[in-house]
Amino acid sequence: MTFHGVRGSTPCHGPDTHRYGGNTSCVSLRVGDESPLILDLGTGVRYLGHQLRTEGRPFVGAALLTHLHWDHVQGLPFFPPVLDAGTRMDIYAPTQDDGRPARVALLDMIKPPMFPVDVSDLPGILDVHTIGDCEFKVGQFSVTSRFIPHIGPTLGYRIEHGGRSVAYLPDHQQPIDGSFDIADAVVNLVEGVDLLIHDSQYTVEEFRHRSDWGHCTGDYALHIARTLNVGTLVMFHHDPSRTDDALDSNLSSWTAGDDDPRVVLAREGMTIAVER
Ligand SMILES: [Zn+2]
Ligand SMILES: [Zn+2]
Repeated sequence: MTFHGVRGSTPCHGPDTHRYGGNTSCVSLRVGDESPLILDLGTGVRYLGHQLRTEGRPFVGAALLTHLHWDHVQGLPFFPPVLDAGTRMDIYAPTQDDGRPARVALLDMIKPPMFPVDVSDLPGILDVHTIGDCEFKVGQFSVTSRFIPHIGPTLGYRIEHGGRSVAYLPDHQQPIDGSFDIADAVVNLVEGVDLLIHDSQYTVEEFRHRSDWGHCTGDYALHIARTLNVGTLVMFHHDPSRTDDALDSNLSSWTAGDDDPRVVLAREGMTIAVER
């Protein structure tokens, strides 16, 4: 599992954030030399695209989108393989509250005046599938999607292959009273996974002021990982205002207990082997 973008909300840049990186949500999961399964298309996907192009074959693969907020889709028109005629990407994204298919809601952003050309003029083929609470196969991966609490229709994913499992919940609204209840859909996705990539945007103090902004604290992420028997918890979707030093000091507060899951801070460029 490789992390190409680990920030939430908006990209950030500068000496205070360069160690963990400033691109927005994008992760890829790869088995052998097959095409990677991409999770979200934030600005980090541009760098993944450059890597894929060096492999000298067209990209034929898939991406799972949690939702259509900018920080999860903005990299799509800048993903270099969309400029290659052999590219074919199946994109899975949630059905929208207004009934629009995900294809319309997503691809409407790639046209003038927001983008210089219309998506239909790009050489690569993008096939968008509208999904909800589903179980399906993508290549050799078994995928479970469930709607989870956030703002607007948002999916979390559980992905399984060869007896190993990953859950991806980058944006997750903690109960706004700050309590630690866990939605049934989240239990479905996360129970017993080897690796959980989870929202950890806010400190407890910040959450008091932004309790209905769609996110959670690192403490809530850790509570989920402990309660649901997770092997490794990757703290993800760092707030753009969080400095590298602040992330380091948060980590020390999350790794105190002996019975804890392993806790890792997501960092751009990091690759983790999924194993128990
Ligand atoms: Zn986000
Ligand atoms: Zn969001």
